[in-house]
Amino acid sequence: MIRYQGDVYRPPSEADSLILQATLGCSYNRCTFCAMYREKDFRVRPLSELREELAWAARSLAGVRKVFLADGDALVAKASFLAELLDEIGRALPGLKRVSCYASPQALAVRTVDEMRDLRERGLTQYYLGIESGHDAVLRDLEKGVDAAEMIRVARKAHAAGVKLSTMILLGAGGRALSREHAVESARVVNAIQPRFLSTLVMTPVPGTPLGAAAARGEVDELDPVELAWELRELLAGLELEGTIFRSNHASNYLTLAGTLPKDKAAMVAALDGVLRAPERAPFRPKWSRGL
Ligand code: SF4
Repeated sequence: MIRYQGDVYRPPSEADSLILQATLGCSYNRCTFCAMYREKDFRVRPLSELREELAWAARSLAGVRKVFLADGDALVAKASFLAELLDEIGRALPGLKRVSCYASPQALAVRTVDEMRDLRERGLTQYYLGIESGHDAVLRDLEKGVDAAEMIRVARKAHAAGVKLSTMILLGAGGRALSREHAVESARVVNAIQPRFLSTLVMTPVPGTPLGAAAARGEVDELDPVELAWELRELLAGLELEGTIFRSNHASNYLTLAGTLPKDKAAMVAALDGVLRAPERAPFRPKWSRGL
């Protein structure tokens, strides 16, 4: 069986994937809003343990088509370890269509394009990258560890290796003061990256994080659902994408929108204009039903 260690997180689109903890925790673990791996020390799991779990999956689970490598930034593990693991996964699960993982900007900086290309050929074809914001001051406040120019540089490495990127923007991350600039600059960075997938999350202070502590002191300027809808409208209006699937289906969102860009851009902006004209009729999720 699979011996999951601690809480396990995965993107919404990996709901039907087999989750394998290739690494535990996050090697960076400093983003102010992130509570996912605060309690875990980062380490790479021994291949022997993963081999046992894969053998169990091969015996017990029929038709596994997708594998997600957890935890926070499996891509930071040595390329030789990842290559061996991907080969084992391919051998154990013959119906496999793809393997994906989270990729922190720090991990993308460490991996070379050649390594990422080699890993892609062995099945690791998609990374989830939290861009969070394209605004340097917001990225600094979030302690993301990179500025917008570095975010673009490392994301383009993945592109050059032929890896699909699924990217996230954190609505509300600039508070009220930087709401517009956060939206405009985030659109600029997303345009420069041209990801295959884009989604939004809503910044939510969580106890046990620096952001949660700041919120408890009354220092976080949280946007309300209407302000978030306005920010999302500004973000979408600024996007010039050539073929990106957009979703705001993460449980933290107040509004669920979906479409393909550029085809559905005008319709999604119009939908948000409708929300802003008559917010009392908008299908906002109640706060209690949101999650992280
Ligand atoms: S890089 Fe990702 S997993 Fe690590 S602390 Fe930041 S948001 Fe959390």
